[in-house]
Amino acid sequence: MPPVIFLVDMNAFFISCETTRNPSLLDKPAAVAGDPKKRTGIILAPNYQARAFGVKTAMVLYEALRLCPDMLLVPPDHHFYREKSQEVMNLLSCYTPVLEQNSIDEAWLDMTGTEELFGKSEDAAQKIMDEIKCRLGLWCSIGIAENKFLAKMASEMKKPLGITTLWPAEIKNKLWPLPLSAMYGVGKKTAEKLNGLGISTIGELARLDKKYLASLFGKTGLELYEHAHGIDPSPIKPHDEGDMKSIGRSTTLPQDIDDLEKAKVILLELAESIGMTARKHAKKGSVVQITLKFSDFKVFTRQTTVPATNSTKEIYQAGCALLAENWPSHKTVRLIGISLGGLLGNDRSNQMSLFDFYEVQQENNKEEKIDKVMDSIREKYGKGKITRASLIKEKE
Ligand SMILES: [Mg+2]
Repeated sequence: MPPVIFLVDMNAFFISCETTRNPSLLDKPAAVAGDPKKRTGIILAPNYQARAFGVKTAMVLYEALRLCPDMLLVPPDHHFYREKSQEVMNLLSCYTPVLEQNSIDEAWLDMTGTEELFGKSEDAAQKIMDEIKCRLGLWCSIGIAENKFLAKMASEMKKPLGITTLWPAEIKNKLWPLPLSAMYGVGKKTAEKLNGLGISTIGELARLDKKYLASLFGKTGLELYEHAHGIDPSPIKPHDEGDMKSIGRSTTLPQDIDDLEKAKVILLELAESIGMTARKHAKKGSVVQITLKFSDFKVFTRQTTVPATNSTKEIYQAGCALLAENWPSHKTVRLIGISLGGLLGNDRSNQMSLFDFYEVQQENNKEEKIDKVMDSIREKYGKGKITRASLIKEKE
């Protein structure tokens, strides 16, 4: 089975994050910009309306405002973008356990063998794109290929909201006509050096002799040669949950809340996602921690110890107890988070694949069975489709 690798890249990420909490930015040219008060600030992320005026990332503010005088400017809030990024990664990790985050706004997903769960690759990509749009209000482009390099190149080909394949048979038509400056991993200096040799496209690079490239650029030269031919043996390194010490989920609420019952419903969804990830990786944890962020941005955490578990119900109940004990009476809450820590279990080499996960060994425990059924439904139809009314109603 040839590998299927996705690169999910968020479109105009910073300004799109800002738009989720400030809809007045919608349909107007706007950008996140470093220090808008100074004429020397730079554009960090223009939205697509601003791009239509020729505004680009890293453009000096002064120049950008000359192109688009009515552009709205928002100062950067990196903490908020990291929160949003975590929400994106949480959502993506429901599609595959093998995920490598490449930057704040993109990640590779190993989707090999997920056809049975999500359909063919383009359909799976559409499902991911739709879920990111509906649940997080953000846009993305997705590249689909057999390796990381090609998936990254494919993701750049259609923006915004593009789904692009770059299979081996498509390399000649889709990859080779591109200029070297568009080649992932090629720096300005390398591109200039090659341009000086009369090489301006990836196709021209591909026709160069491998040894010649190695003599010019050393190890990088060999990599250039391989990439130009669509070869990239580098594996996806799930540096996140593979050797995880804890699994955490949090969500920034669309509106601040003061209602404990509402908070419990949200907590259940987060606990479900944690339980699912823990079970997928055959891990159990003994520390449940909740995080609350109040409307004044103060952060509060409390933890409790439980017998090692990966059951949604047990994680949820421990979290609920913490929530009830610590629910504020005079403040509203803008973010709720929960994590399962003190993880024990299989090491990474024994990590279960999505499929092993379905051939789970004999179980006699009812909760485990419920968890398993829930996991498979959520894998198949998306995690928003099913909730456990019984757990919500249950008295603690
Ligand atoms: Mg990106």
